[in-house]
Amino acid sequence: MLSITRRSSCYWLQIVFIIHILGAIWYVVYRPTLVLPWQHRHQRGHIGDDGDGLFAALDDSRSWTTGPPHNPNQLTVQLPPASNRTPRVNAGFVVLVRNTELGEMLESMYEERFNRKFDYPWLFLNEEPFTEEFKRRTTAATNAKTHFGFVDESMWSYPTWINQTLAAEQREKMRGLPYGASESYRHMCRFQSGFFWRHPLFLELGWEYYWRVEPHVRYYCELDYDPFLYMKQNNKKYGFTISFVENGGTIPTLWEAIRRFVTATEIYGQNQFALKTKDTLYRFITDENGEQYNQCHFWTNFEIARTDLWQSDTYQKLFEFLDRSGGFFYERWGDAPVHSIFAALFLHKDEFHYFHDIGYKHSVYEHCPESDTLADKCFCNPANTLDYKDPMSCLTRYMDALAENSVDKDTTVGQLLRLPGVAA
Ligand code: GDP
Ligand code: MN
Repeated sequence: MLSITRRSSCYWLQIVFIIHILGAIWYVVYRPTLVLPWQHRHQRGHIGDDGDGLFAALDDSRSWTTGPPHNPNQLTVQLPPASNRTPRVNAGFVVLVRNTELGEMLESMYEERFNRKFDYPWLFLNEEPFTEEFKRRTTAATNAKTHFGFVDESMWSYPTWINQTLAAEQREKMRGLPYGASESYRHMCRFQSGFFWRHPLFLELGWEYYWRVEPHVRYYCELDYDPFLYMKQNNKKYGFTISFVENGGTIPTLWEAIRRFVTATEIYGQNQFALKTKDTLYRFITDENGEQYNQCHFWTNFEIARTDLWQSDTYQKLFEFLDRSGGFFYERWGDAPVHSIFAALFLHKDEFHYFHDIGYKHSVYEHCPESDTLADKCFCNPANTLDYKDPMSCLTRYMDALAENSVDKDTTVGQLLRLPGVAA
């Protein structure tokens, strides 16, 4: 009797031991990729939700909060667990770059602190053939696949309706403005507005999301989750890090052209801009009455977005309209205001994502995350950040626009921007 009890307690010990071992194996294998239902819900990262504090408390080390000091609606985002074993999204990096920018390109590739873990492919585009050296060095800089595409004249030349003499005169007049006299800069902006997303190689790759990169930028932070997957799982369509004010002298008639397009679509009853104003980010770019563009835009030199945003019928028609009006050449319309204005008027405000955790530098301006949990992963000084301090930064306006819900509830964007007195 005694021996039976002893033997059975021994069995119990063995069973408990095995359960422990299995538990440990489970933890090691699955735990880092496990997304619990409440984490999913919180990843939406919206402003002004009373539940935010409660959910954020679950994992403080993986959440961030930011917002202008005066705004009680701070933005809190819960990041997904650190893991590179999540499924890959059909996505990659896209870069327009010149052969002469090879060194600056290599410095800008986010390999060490991000892509070594995720292996997203790179697509390099150029209106001149890439040199063998450029291809070799960029390919050596990554473990992922590299692709090299040529931008031909169909995407990098004057359309037939442009008067090139007038364009040259206009460039001279704009000499005092940033890139005012540059011809190639205008082709570049037009390409980034209307063509990269339908370049034959880009279409062949069939990416659902893309991440735009430029030479001579810098990525400061260790990124331990997949931002493409974050965007996809949270139904985000446009992601940015820096928002800034444009030099208005380069786009004097852009806003009017946008309004003419909106008005035309309104008149023909196409409802292309049917969202209620309060559901969009229109306050990021314009005043209460939609009368003037305030020059705020997202910096497109960093852009993580859904490809089909630009492939949408509405954007394609808008680009065609803007292109026909000649402003890419007679003025110096940038792809940043064009992308930003469209996204702010067309998308729901929940479809934007501010990548506060991605420290980033372009030219002399930078965004460096301020909270301790993020700063510890970044090689930059938060004192240098533009965010809410620099008068050129539009982040305060973005946050306020996100929280704004007091505007007339029934007005659609199309109705707001329709030009008075314009008939069919
Ligand atoms: P900024 O950011 O507005 O100052 O303009 P950049 O000079 O950085 O140009 C924006 C992007 O377009 C960068 O990726 C450049 O490498 C690229 N780019 C600009 N001009 C040309 C050009 O003439 N040819 C090519 N292939 N790329 C260009
Ligand atoms: Mn640049």
